[in-house]
Amino acid sequence: MQVNLLDKDARGLADFFQEIGEKPFRARQVLRWLHQNREADFERMTDLSKSLRARLAQTATVAFPELVASSEAADGTRKWLLSVGGGNAIETVFIPEASRGTLCVSSQVGCALECAFCATGRQGFNRNLSTAEIIGQLWWAMKTLSGEPAAARLDGDAPERPVSNVVMMGMGEPLANFDNVVRAMRIMLDDHAYGLSRRRVTLSTSGIVPAIDRLREECPVALAVSLHASNDALRDRLVPINRKYPLSALLAACRRYVESAPDEPAPSGEKWQRAGAPRDFVTFEYVMLDQVNDSLGHARELVALTRDVPCKFNLIPFNPFPDSGFSRSPADRVRAFQEVLMQAGLIATVRKTRGDDIDGACGQLAGKVLDRTRRGARRAQEARA
Ligand code: SF4
Repeated sequence: MQVNLLDKDARGLADFFQEIGEKPFRARQVLRWLHQNREADFERMTDLSKSLRARLAQTATVAFPELVASSEAADGTRKWLLSVGGGNAIETVFIPEASRGTLCVSSQVGCALECAFCATGRQGFNRNLSTAEIIGQLWWAMKTLSGEPAAARLDGDAPERPVSNVVMMGMGEPLANFDNVVRAMRIMLDDHAYGLSRRRVTLSTSGIVPAIDRLREECPVALAVSLHASNDALRDRLVPINRKYPLSALLAACRRYVESAPDEPAPSGEKWQRAGAPRDFVTFEYVMLDQVNDSLGHARELVALTRDVPCKFNLIPFNPFPDSGFSRSPADRVRAFQEVLMQAGLIATVRKTRGDDIDGACGQLAGKVLDRTRRGARRAQEARA
């Protein structure tokens, strides 16, 4: 079977070349071809010998997800539907802003965690994405956007590269697919590939505590946590993983992350060159659900809860989807909630809703998931009962 070179980070490629009797430095050359030049044809990798190119053509491949559909919102947000085989498809969203371009990347086909307010969670779960399928989303976006004039994708001053930031916030729980996600993020950070700084790569988790600790050791990037509730009883209902890792354990893990994420790890034996330090705060995501978690009492509870964690709050207006059972908090309640946090000295921003006319806003990603968890059948049964 041919090896997909998009599945490999620098260390994986070095091992691959060593196994076929080549020098490990070939890894850097091939990383640059694949990710900086986005060249998938070995024949065009002109600084490799002819014999190596022929050998690669026989033993390796460069396979990425296939584009099925793309849409563009009135505000310039793009959504791509990418096929990952077997009837499954994932979604990737690009959000252009004046000074940056952010790509929201998926990590799983569906999600097994079933957060109450999330469209992805409703769809069930099929499988983890491979490293190639994760990094392939960035590969695709860069390839598509690099061919366009900056004015076509941005409101104002264009950043140096079309995708300046990546958020692992698309479909799936990234820490439930740890190895493949970390390998993909190492490629994002690698100077021979995308060269993003660790501050510009954000992983968002619902709170898998042991994996947060592992991330701190193996690939510290900016950390966002889907908090969404100010006490365990409410969070057990909204984010069910809380029953396994309650708030006290989650917040302790956040503290450890911020306090001791090492500056200069050496994952895969490769020394980071420009990656820099991860952020020295955690971003807490908090979706504002009308009459559920949006009272001033909840805001005060949050202030007390997060007192010992260097953090910022990102308040997210809920993006409704059919049969969600929730509605968006009115704007004046969101403002009052924000005010309580800010008066306590916390930084709290309200996320601008982007791309909601193409269902590309936060929590709306659906893709196409052939559910293997029977969640859809169970919900239909519940609805009939
Ligand atoms: S919010 Fe995230 S972790 Fe929760 S169900 Fe949705 S995709 Fe999964």
